[in-house]
Amino acid sequence: MSYDRSQLREIINTLRKRSDASDEQLKALIENGGCDSELFAAADETRRERYGTDVYVRGLIEFTNYCRNDCFYCGIRRSNKNVPRYRMTPDEIMSCCEKGYRLGFRTFVLQGGEDMFFTDEIMCGIISSLHGRFPDCAITLSLGERPRESYERYFRAGARRYLLRQETASDEHYSRLHPDEMSGENRKKCLFDLKETGYQVGTGIMVGSPYQTSENIVADLRFMQRLSPDMIGIGPFISHRDTPFAGFENGTLELTLRLIAILRLMFPHALIPATTALGTIDPNGREMGLKAGANVVMPNLSPADVREKYQLYDNKICLSDDAEKCKSCLEDKIKAAGYRTVVSAGDVKR
Ligand code: SAM
Repeated sequence: MSYDRSQLREIINTLRKRSDASDEQLKALIENGGCDSELFAAADETRRERYGTDVYVRGLIEFTNYCRNDCFYCGIRRSNKNVPRYRMTPDEIMSCCEKGYRLGFRTFVLQGGEDMFFTDEIMCGIISSLHGRFPDCAITLSLGERPRESYERYFRAGARRYLLRQETASDEHYSRLHPDEMSGENRKKCLFDLKETGYQVGTGIMVGSPYQTSENIVADLRFMQRLSPDMIGIGPFISHRDTPFAGFENGTLELTLRLIAILRLMFPHALIPATTALGTIDPNGREMGLKAGANVVMPNLSPADVREKYQLYDNKICLSDDAEKCKSCLEDKIKAAGYRTVVSAGDVKR
């Protein structure tokens, strides 16, 4: 069925009024750009009602690029022998956060490959020393799939937020993006474990990942409705030369922006980042992401000498900038887009 502009406008109004759209209507909105400016305006209005013009800043520390997984899309997959591997020490992580704190960061995101060198003991040591040193900061983890007991231990040590993208809610699509030893079912189970443990949970997808259909994206939105995440991180899929998906097309700016706006309308409370991947496919991608409903940015706090080694995809931006430069560059973009940077831990507003 084809949809004209007035029908698309009606779907936007339905979402704007917090009513649910049908699968077919969501698919139409995903596939048609005819009403994008109205869609972005409605998303911006929704974000202003809940969050005003506030944009939250999270300091990202990519502390290890070792990974036991072999995801077909990812540049740090274990089979990629061209990546020099690194691990930051707990002291190095602490000094990154010290620097971040001085620059005004009040959330630290520890992200890495699934690196079992960082046992629960080591992770809890890192989390509790950060929590003790920066009691006014939120500690966010993004370490991939771990047993529920591990998530509970990190929570007791002081972590309060966890980012784990579902990647795709469809098990069939999941199996085309990952080797047989990984399962979409386990990833989804981890998300509910995290939620039940008490974390503010972030999930998300890559937009335009290989084999993704609009039906997959609708299923992703439905999964998110069941999970009710606090944070939703989406960015375009970008190919990496040393992966099995080297020859695939990148996700587009247009679809990523449209989805940010749809997410804002469907989840008015959500913290939605304008991601580095969005800034990589278009120099103005993050400003446009903010105007389409995003309200978080995540400057890189990792030391300059490790950044080159954490390339999930080709041509990643900000590889040589230091933390201060990354932050001030993003603040300029926030201001130019008409929003304001906030120094606070920035909890979700349900
Ligand atoms: N290991 C943790 C996990 O699995 O959640 C965190 C690190 S993982 C590399 C972070 C995210 O990077 C993934 O959830 C995935 O969506 C994204 N990513 C990986 N490769 C990508 C690519 N080629 N293009 C865009 N995003 C990618």
